[in-house]
Amino acid sequence: MVTTERMPVLFVGHGSPMNAIEDNPWSRGFASLHGVVPRPTAILAVSAHWYVDGTFLTAEGAPRTIHDFGGFPPALHAVEYPAPGRADLAARVRELIGERAGLRTDWGLDHGTWSVLCHMYPDADVPVVQLSIDRRLAPAAHLELARSLTALRHEGVLILGSGNITHNLRDAFGRMRTGSSETPDWARRFDALVRGALDDHDTSAIVMADQSDDGRMAHPTPDHWLPLIYALGASDRDDAVSYPIEGFDAGSLSMRAVRWG
Ligand code: ZN
Repeated sequence: MVTTERMPVLFVGHGSPMNAIEDNPWSRGFASLHGVVPRPTAILAVSAHWYVDGTFLTAEGAPRTIHDFGGFPPALHAVEYPAPGRADLAARVRELIGERAGLRTDWGLDHGTWSVLCHMYPDADVPVVQLSIDRRLAPAAHLELARSLTALRHEGVLILGSGNITHNLRDAFGRMRTGSSETPDWARRFDALVRGALDDHDTSAIVMADQSDDGRMAHPTPDHWLPLIYALGASDRDDAVSYPIEGFDAGSLSMRAVRWG
């Protein structure tokens, strides 16, 4: 379907899986995203939690809800998010990215996707396809791949990156144990630096940002960082940038959400 309206692009900081079942500022923020974008015909989600050796797309008609975590209460394991898949969207994405992506029917929707969407579209009535993050690619290659997805914005598809702008779990768990909700300087600086670069459409600064000292603290591994690069790649200078959710959870975990367009 081709529409004249160009869809915005979203990045969401998903944080703890518990946001799926808790009523807190973050889950209320996820719910508010419903009104932040026009209703899409489908969602292409790039989640931090599908970080593998290859670029893959979910191809199931009814993707399963993956509970890809341990040590959480049964109520969280009981959550089902039965959004349908859309095989034609998976095929369209393969066409756009040069058919280098494989189709997979053994994944589904992981919590990076459903812990946000269960609040944003609680009726699970918008089809969702997930695109994996190939951990073998350099940052510039992720950006290039994401740029090829831009056409989807004219086809009613919402491109949704789900990670966190700062994500050092060792630090966050340490603060949870000691009950410290103080935000460390490195997290505040890195979040502010990324926000400034997003405001300035300074793509090259963002692509390299996680290589700085603060960046390495913010991202000991790149899985939660790269979904931002995908969302950024699908945006351009014509997009107004806004932040529907801001703040830190567990002291150092940036929950910033970004809307382009
Ligand atoms: Zn996560």
